[in-house]
Amino acid sequence: MSLKKYQQKRNFDETSEPAPILKLKKKKQLIFVIQKHAATRLHYDLRLEVNGVLKSWAVPKGPSLNPRDKHLAIMVEDHPYDYHNFEGIIPEGNYGAGTVMVWDAGTYLPLDQNYEVTDEKAMEKGIKEGKLHFGLAGHKLFGIFALIRIKSDKDNQWLLFKKDDPYATQTDILKKDRSVLSDRTMNQIKKNQ
Ligand code: MN
Repeated sequence: MSLKKYQQKRNFDETSEPAPILKLKKKKQLIFVIQKHAATRLHYDLRLEVNGVLKSWAVPKGPSLNPRDKHLAIMVEDHPYDYHNFEGIIPEGNYGAGTVMVWDAGTYLPLDQNYEVTDEKAMEKGIKEGKLHFGLAGHKLFGIFALIRIKSDKDNQWLLFKKDDPYATQTDILKKDRSVLSDRTMNQIKKNQ
Protein backbone atom coordinates (compact mmCIF):
# COMPACT_ATOMS: atom_id res chain seq x y z
CA MET A 1 0.00 0.00 0.00
CA SER A 2 1.19 3.47 -0.78
CA LEU A 3 1.87 6.16 1.77
CA LYS A 4 -1.12 7.98 0.41
CA LYS A 5 -3.42 5.30 1.84
CA TYR A 6 -1.59 5.45 5.17
CA GLN A 7 -2.16 9.16 5.17
CA GLN A 8 -5.85 8.95 4.19
CA LYS A 9 -6.63 6.60 7.04
CA ARG A 10 -5.26 8.83 9.75
CA ASN A 11 -6.01 12.23 11.16
CA PHE A 12 -2.63 13.56 12.23
CA ASP A 13 -4.24 16.25 14.38
CA GLU A 14 -5.47 13.45 16.65
CA THR A 15 -2.97 10.63 16.42
CA SER A 16 0.68 10.83 17.36
CA GLU A 17 1.66 8.37 14.65
CA PRO A 18 4.21 9.85 12.28
CA ALA A 19 2.80 11.81 9.39
CA PRO A 20 4.52 11.22 6.09
CA ILE A 21 6.63 14.19 5.19
CA LEU A 22 5.42 15.69 1.97
CA LYS A 23 8.46 16.33 -0.08
CA LEU A 24 8.25 18.73 -2.94
CA LYS A 25 10.15 17.20 -5.78
CA LYS A 26 12.96 19.67 -6.00
CA LYS A 27 14.90 19.65 -9.21
CA LYS A 28 18.58 20.38 -8.97
CA GLN A 29 19.39 23.84 -10.27
CA LEU A 30 21.74 23.58 -13.21
CA ILE A 31 23.76 26.61 -14.17
CA PHE A 32 24.78 28.17 -17.43
CA VAL A 33 27.20 30.94 -18.24
CA ILE A 34 28.17 32.88 -21.33
CA GLN A 35 31.66 34.32 -21.20
CA LYS A 36 32.60 37.01 -23.68
CA HIS A 37 36.16 36.20 -24.67
CA ALA A 38 38.43 38.59 -26.53
CA ALA A 39 41.00 36.03 -27.64
CA THR A 40 42.73 36.02 -31.05
CA ARG A 41 39.17 36.33 -32.32
CA LEU A 42 36.31 37.67 -30.24
CA HIS A 43 33.73 35.01 -29.38
CA TYR A 44 31.22 34.04 -26.72
CA ASP A 45 31.65 30.80 -24.79
CA LEU A 46 28.35 29.14 -23.88
CA ARG A 47 28.73 26.70 -21.01
CA LEU A 48 26.05 24.38 -19.63
CA GLU A 49 26.46 22.40 -16.42
CA VAL A 50 26.08 18.67 -17.11
CA ASN A 51 27.07 16.09 -14.50
CA GLY A 52 29.54 18.31 -12.70
CA VAL A 53 31.34 19.82 -15.66
CA LEU A 54 30.64 22.69 -18.03
CA LYS A 55 29.87 21.50 -21.55
CA SER A 56 31.22 24.29 -23.75
CA TRP A 57 30.66 25.83 -27.16
CA ALA A 58 32.50 28.79 -28.67
CA VAL A 59 30.06 31.01 -30.57
CA PRO A 60 31.87 33.55 -32.80
CA LYS A 61 28.76 35.66 -33.47
CA GLY A 62 27.36 35.26 -29.97
CA PRO A 63 23.83 34.31 -28.91
CA SER A 64 20.73 35.97 -30.35
CA LEU A 65 17.14 36.27 -29.17
CA ASN A 66 15.96 36.34 -32.78
CA PRO A 67 14.90 32.82 -33.90
CA ARG A 68 16.04 33.67 -37.47
CA ASP A 69 19.66 33.86 -36.33
CA LYS A 70 21.31 30.47 -36.44
CA HIS A 71 24.85 30.95 -35.24
CA LEU A 72 27.76 28.57 -35.53
CA ALA A 73 28.74 27.08 -32.17
CA ILE A 74 31.93 25.06 -32.04
CA MET A 75 31.94 22.47 -29.29
CA VAL A 76 35.14 22.74 -27.31
CA GLU A 77 36.58 20.84 -24.36
CA ASP A 78 34.66 20.53 -21.09
CA HIS A 79 35.57 23.14 -18.52
CA PRO A 80 35.61 22.59 -14.75
CA TYR A 81 32.48 23.70 -12.90
CA ASP A 82 34.43 26.39 -11.05
CA TYR A 83 35.19 28.14 -14.32
CA HIS A 84 31.65 29.55 -14.37
CA ASN A 85 32.49 32.73 -12.51
CA PHE A 86 35.92 33.33 -14.01
CA GLU A 87 36.31 36.87 -15.21
CA GLY A 88 39.62 38.55 -15.86
CA ILE A 89 42.68 38.26 -18.02
CA ILE A 90 44.32 35.12 -19.41
CA PRO A 91 47.97 36.23 -19.75
CA GLU A 92 49.80 36.47 -23.06
CA GLY A 93 51.39 33.24 -24.20
CA ASN A 94 48.71 31.11 -22.54
CA TYR A 95 45.94 29.15 -24.19
CA GLY A 96 43.02 31.48 -24.89
CA ALA A 97 45.02 34.58 -23.93
CA GLY A 98 42.82 37.66 -23.66
CA THR A 99 40.03 39.23 -21.64
CA VAL A 100 37.11 37.18 -20.28
CA MET A 101 33.81 38.68 -19.11
CA VAL A 102 30.86 36.92 -17.51
CA TRP A 103 28.45 38.29 -20.09
CA ASP A 104 25.43 36.33 -18.84
CA ALA A 105 24.78 33.73 -16.19
CA GLY A 106 21.89 31.97 -14.54
CA THR A 107 20.14 28.63 -14.45
CA TYR A 108 18.87 26.39 -17.20
CA LEU A 109 16.39 23.57 -17.60
CA PRO A 110 17.20 20.62 -19.85
CA LEU A 111 14.22 20.02 -22.16
CA ASP A 112 13.14 17.22 -24.44
CA GLN A 113 11.83 17.79 -27.97
CA ASN A 114 8.35 18.49 -26.55
CA TYR A 115 9.90 21.06 -24.22
CA GLU A 116 9.17 18.95 -21.16
CA VAL A 117 11.75 19.28 -18.42
CA THR A 118 14.18 16.40 -18.42
CA ASP A 119 17.54 15.79 -16.74
CA GLU A 120 21.31 15.74 -17.11
CA LYS A 121 21.24 12.17 -18.38
CA ALA A 122 19.07 13.33 -21.27
CA MET A 123 21.55 16.16 -21.89
CA GLU A 124 24.39 13.63 -22.20
CA LYS A 125 22.28 11.66 -24.67
CA GLY A 126 21.41 14.84 -26.56
CA ILE A 127 25.08 15.71 -26.90
CA LYS A 128 25.79 12.27 -28.36
CA GLU A 129 22.86 12.59 -30.74
CA GLY A 130 23.62 16.19 -31.66
CA LYS A 131 20.33 17.67 -30.52
CA LEU A 132 19.80 19.78 -27.40
CA HIS A 133 16.94 21.91 -26.16
CA PHE A 134 17.13 23.95 -22.99
CA GLY A 135 15.43 26.84 -21.25
CA LEU A 136 17.67 29.65 -20.05
CA ALA A 137 16.92 31.95 -17.15
CA GLY A 138 19.72 34.49 -17.17
CA HIS A 139 20.01 38.26 -16.85
CA LYS A 140 20.07 38.86 -20.60
CA LEU A 141 18.96 35.59 -22.14
CA PHE A 142 15.62 33.99 -21.41
CA GLY A 143 13.52 31.27 -22.98
CA ILE A 144 14.05 28.18 -25.06
CA PHE A 145 17.19 27.64 -27.10
CA ALA A 146 18.43 24.81 -29.28
CA LEU A 147 21.84 23.49 -30.17
CA ILE A 148 21.80 21.22 -33.22
CA ARG A 149 24.91 19.54 -34.59
CA ILE A 150 25.56 20.20 -38.26
CA LYS A 151 25.82 17.07 -40.31
CA SER A 152 29.37 17.29 -41.54
CA ASP A 153 32.68 15.55 -41.19
CA LYS A 154 33.56 17.92 -38.37
CA ASP A 155 31.34 16.73 -35.54
CA ASN A 156 32.16 19.68 -33.30
CA GLN A 157 30.15 22.14 -35.40
CA TRP A 158 26.70 23.00 -34.07
CA LEU A 159 24.13 25.73 -34.62
CA LEU A 160 22.82 27.75 -31.68
CA PHE A 161 19.46 29.43 -32.04
CA LYS A 162 16.47 30.74 -30.15
CA LYS A 163 13.18 28.89 -30.45
CA ASP A 164 10.12 30.99 -31.13
CA ASP A 165 8.57 31.67 -27.73
CA PRO A 166 7.34 34.75 -25.85
CA TYR A 167 10.96 35.72 -25.10
CA ALA A 168 11.99 35.83 -28.75
CA THR A 169 12.80 39.35 -29.92
CA GLN A 170 14.70 41.15 -32.66
CA THR A 171 16.47 43.37 -30.16
CA ASP A 172 20.24 43.00 -30.46
CA ILE A 173 21.03 41.58 -27.06
CA LEU A 174 24.79 41.83 -27.68
CA LYS A 175 24.45 45.61 -27.21
CA LYS A 176 24.09 44.84 -23.53
CA ASP A 177 27.82 44.58 -23.18
CA ARG A 178 28.56 44.81 -19.48
CA SER A 179 29.44 42.00 -17.11
CA VAL A 180 26.53 40.57 -15.11
CA LEU A 181 29.07 39.80 -12.40
CA SER A 182 30.83 43.14 -12.00
CA ASP A 183 28.99 45.57 -14.33
CA ARG A 184 32.33 46.26 -16.03
CA THR A 185 32.99 46.69 -19.75
CA MET A 186 35.59 44.57 -21.55
CA ASN A 187 37.93 47.53 -21.48
CA GLN A 188 37.59 47.96 -17.73
CA ILE A 189 38.28 44.27 -17.20
CA LYS A 190 41.27 44.51 -19.54
CA LYS A 191 42.66 47.46 -17.59
CA ASN A 192 41.85 45.65 -14.36
CA GLN A 193 39.70 48.53 -13.17
MN1 MN B 1 36.93 31.01 -25.39
